[in-house]
Amino acid sequence: MNAPLPPNANQLAGLLEVQRAAFLADMLPSAAARRERLQRLHALVADNEEAILAAIDADFGGRARQEMVLTELFIVRSAIRQQRRKLGRWMRERRVATPLHMLPGSSALMPQPLGVVGNIVPWNYPCQLALVPAAAALAAGNRVMLKPSELTPAFARLLAQLAAQYFSPAELAVVEGGVEVSREFAALPFDHLVFTGSTAVGRQVAVAAARNLTPVTLELGGKSPAIIDTSCDLAQAAPRLTFGKLFNAGQTCVAPDYALVPRARVADFVREVSAAAAAMYPHFAGNAQYTSIISERHHARLQQLVREAQGQGATALSLGPADEAQATDGGRRMAPVLLLDVTPEMAVMREEIFGPLLPVVPYDTLQEAIAFINARERPLALYWFGQDRRHCDQVLRSTISGGVTVNDALWHAAQENLPFGGVGASGTGAYHGEHGFLAFSKQKPIYRQARLNGFGLFRPPYGRVFDTLADFLKRHL
Ligand code: NAD
Repeated sequence: MNAPLPPNANQLAGLLEVQRAAFLADMLPSAAARRERLQRLHALVADNEEAILAAIDADFGGRARQEMVLTELFIVRSAIRQQRRKLGRWMRERRVATPLHMLPGSSALMPQPLGVVGNIVPWNYPCQLALVPAAAALAAGNRVMLKPSELTPAFARLLAQLAAQYFSPAELAVVEGGVEVSREFAALPFDHLVFTGSTAVGRQVAVAAARNLTPVTLELGGKSPAIIDTSCDLAQAAPRLTFGKLFNAGQTCVAPDYALVPRARVADFVREVSAAAAAMYPHFAGNAQYTSIISERHHARLQQLVREAQGQGATALSLGPADEAQATDGGRRMAPVLLLDVTPEMAVMREEIFGPLLPVVPYDTLQEAIAFINARERPLALYWFGQDRRHCDQVLRSTISGGVTVNDALWHAAQENLPFGGVGASGTGAYHGEHGFLAFSKQKPIYRQARLNGFGLFRPPYGRVFDTLADFLKRHL
């Protein structure tokens, strides 16, 4: 399966033109046409599940099948199904209240597709992050161009072939290639651009889009904290937190990045997390239920984070069995590491970790834990574990994050009814469910004037009538 030569900038612009021309020929596709496109998207996934799983597994050099079934197949199919079921209602023009002084005219919002939506996709959930936004964009009546990551070439090749099989290039097209192609893709004058990836690259994408005044949805990353409250039942919380951290080997945008733990409970926390990890993964090396690190470079980066932290005084506790080689099974599976005695200056506390390392940051008061979070960039996710409702409310009210799960990890991001997106450095805009439909629609405000109305009284030449009306409005509004 050889990949074709990457397209040059002219070819990319040509593809956009083809999609735009097709859009202009049918600017408000019927509900039936949209449902039929989503049906094809559903079939693209459902008919090719094994090929999709095999391609992603090859790209990772070993990825837990069960995790893929959940996140790359089930979530995608359920998102497509929901868009299909609900789009008829969402695309309807909606009456809104008209103020008294504008009567008897009427007001409405008309959802309209934007045109061509571009989507730049990262490697960590390559199918989900390509197709869930695509489903919402198609439901809203748009055309879609996808750019998968260069780090998932097998999946990108497969998706390009399947897209060509199930769709015309004017409906949904996949562009393969490296970072250079991604850069050219981001510079295209899309009607909307979705970017999912790191905050650093998100910044560059925002600049490129701004040149075209292309609106963006930026789904970025960052360091998502998990707060262990003094009221926390650690035996219950540790398996949940550990699951969230080790799912996809920590390569999840909403993975808990570090844990804030009451100083007096650090030892118990370490014990419970170690036990939870051992119960879920008796071993890491060669364990097909534990995912590999995506590339040599990322593997080396994570090892370096541990080494650097140790060099600066941190204690590293491997959660792998004692007889397991610390880092590797000859592939890129990496046993998780708890890091104690970290300082804010260490790279592991400055960068998003995106791997199976969990720094433990002790705190003395809840205020101090909240201040620690608020002194940093706004996280994509925040987790709170405990029983004390007042403490929970205090954290919810005094921190700003993309989303929150209370007493568990990750799950708020897996719900179609909750908007998914960051805030500040962790992102702009949101999608999932109706929020996705809205993100890729223009809600066009329309005021329809009545045949008989009082607006003629406001026309020049101004005189007594206008003054009386203005006086009336002043007294009543
Ligand atoms: P990345 O930022 O390195 O790359 C993402 C994509 O951007 C790739 O497809 C790449 O080809 C493209 N790209 C690279 N340079 C570009 C440029 N100058 N202009 C345009 N495109 C460019 O991210 P990654 O390593 O693939 O993914 C990991 C990051 O993504 C983490 O930070 C993670 O938190 C974040 N993430 C966020 C979400 C979310 O929904 N918020 C989901 C998954 C991952």
